[in-house]
Amino acid sequence: MFKEILDFIKTLYPNTNPIPLHAPIFIGNEKKYLNNCIDTGFVSYLGEYVNKFEEAICNYTGSKYAIATVNGTCALQVALELAGVNQGDEVITQALTFVATANAIHFCGAEPIFIDSDLQTLGMSAEKLEEFLQLNCRLNNNGQCINIKTGRIIKACVPVHIFGHPVHIDRIIEICNKFHIHVVEDAAESLGSLYKNQHTGTFGLLGILSFNGNKIITTGGGGMILTNDETLSRLARHITTTAKIPHQWEFYHDRHGYNYRLTNVNAAIGYAQMELLPLFVERKRRITEKYKEFFSKFENIKFFTEPFNSYSNYWLNLVIFRNREERNQFLNFSNNNGVMTRPVWTLMNKLPMFQNCQSTNLDNAYFLEDRGVNIPSSVPLFDIE
Ligand SMILES: *Cc1c(COP(=O)(O)O)cnc(C)c1O
Repeated sequence: MFKEILDFIKTLYPNTNPIPLHAPIFIGNEKKYLNNCIDTGFVSYLGEYVNKFEEAICNYTGSKYAIATVNGTCALQVALELAGVNQGDEVITQALTFVATANAIHFCGAEPIFIDSDLQTLGMSAEKLEEFLQLNCRLNNNGQCINIKTGRIIKACVPVHIFGHPVHIDRIIEICNKFHIHVVEDAAESLGSLYKNQHTGTFGLLGILSFNGNKIITTGGGGMILTNDETLSRLARHITTTAKIPHQWEFYHDRHGYNYRLTNVNAAIGYAQMELLPLFVERKRRITEKYKEFFSKFENIKFFTEPFNSYSNYWLNLVIFRNREERNQFLNFSNNNGVMTRPVWTLMNKLPMFQNCQSTNLDNAYFLEDRGVNIPSSVPLFDIE
């Protein structure tokens, strides 16, 4: 059975050995725009491509504002800061996510709380979130959400669109609104994914994207803060550029600020990749169709497909085995035979730096951790039928 799977994957990615999990492809204007950076001398964060890239992201996602940053982790850190997260606060997220989500919360001086996954979306379970808040939280006289057990303020909630699949974001926002908690969407993996025809990352107060080397488009390294709030967008731009007050020659900074702005060199690649994004999504969804058809014949393996009401970019395709043992056998076999596959991430609550954090019951997250494997999902170099 395993051999049959690998043989099939090799037909999707011919002439590639080993077959990577997700490799970037550069088939557009990347070199041309990069040369332009060198020729004009605009290599740092001043330059036309930063603006063009941000504009392209706004046009594509429907977000009113977009602020480019050096990576997705710092985009999330700044977004949380703008949502009011302070030292000693608590921030809700999910146990099954990439470590960057929880790290960004930590970098704000806050503690994460881990909610279980929803098996339909792979993201945060709205039911478990509601249950946790009803059981543990009260609004104080200032209208802040207080965790009764710790006495701390819960300022924000970070649902993650896992492997590109949209979470039930409208439900999560509805619940958070009741408890006066801001929603900051981690859409690092879901550029190109829609929930009820609206782009992921544009539902919450703020959202973030990542353009790391393995994401659906890449800038080498990069990230983006999304928001429809003009004041927040201006602040985001301000504190990611050392909080310098614009002036012809004076250096004056009115608060602590970061050096987090994306450079023109990275943005040039990103702008070229944005021209290709519709093609990338189309080709990735073609690969998924092929996988879906192929895996339908296996009774013991479930191939994950996009949740109801969603249009997914299928960043990483996922198969779910019967148990951890079969999962490990497949991981061993595939990685030893030229096909890169990966288990889903170790749950955040198991990592040493987060092991004392609060969490809900994590039955679904453990289910997925034991059984889930990501299989090769790169954008193919050529159209497939
Ligand atoms: C990639 C990723 C990030 C962080 O992005 P970087 O650009 O690598 O810093 C954050 N959250 C999730 C879920 C991610 O997959």
